[in-house]
Amino acid sequence: MQLTVLGCSGTFPSPTSPCSGYLVEHDGYRLILDLGAGALGSLQRHVDLRSIDAVYISHLHADHCIDLVAYFYARRFHPDGALPILPVYGPPGTAHRIGSAFEEPPVDGFHEVYDFREVRSGVFTLGPFTVTNGRVNHPVECHALRVEADGKVLTYSGDTAACEEIVELARDADLFLCEASWPSVPTPPPGIHLTGREAGDHAARAGAKRLVLTHIMPFHDPQAMLAEAKETYDGELDMAHAGTTYDV
Ligand SMILES: [Zn+2]
Ligand SMILES: [Zn+2]
Repeated sequence: MQLTVLGCSGTFPSPTSPCSGYLVEHDGYRLILDLGAGALGSLQRHVDLRSIDAVYISHLHADHCIDLVAYFYARRFHPDGALPILPVYGPPGTAHRIGSAFEEPPVDGFHEVYDFREVRSGVFTLGPFTVTNGRVNHPVECHALRVEADGKVLTYSGDTAACEEIVELARDADLFLCEASWPSVPTPPPGIHLTGREAGDHAARAGAKRLVLTHIMPFHDPQAMLAEAKETYDGELDMAHAGTTYDV
């Protein structure tokens, strides 16, 4: 499968990247994981925005879901006519969250664009992918995702502080896309995000073959975050950049 980073900036866009958005492709099927601020723009640099088969939103913070509002308009008013209804997976409350982000909820037509499938824990088949989710450690319900196809494993952490669920979901992953939002010093608030060092530690305990750090907040130095992760993880290590594609 292929992973393309549409955006990887944590909490708010940086000068060089939109917020979270990841395109995962295999056998012609296109799955988007998260669609935060600006990610819809990036998407169009890679594929036709009509060509998406499903979306999975990890959680309902705006930096992970708000471009579903813009994407609604792009799909509903496309000059080529109505597009197929798009399945949008997410935690309970996804439909209300997106609907309430409009000035007035688009009662007519909303469900002609998105088919919201609100889910808790489970295993889902999305085209060629087997997707296993798990609730991670964040102030709102957030799902980390283990995406498998053809014997390969991609794990996406969503937003999480330290937790064992993410270690299990990333077990032996070929690529672990893991958030590392802030440095270890000064001590960050508990129960929200990982530090670079914690991301490395979780990847090492999971036995992940490759670690890609993402969701760095623009306040922080990415090189310092990489250096932290190197202290606890000795496998292949990268920093996500908008526009990069990985073969998994
Ligand atoms: Zn976030
Ligand atoms: Zn969040």
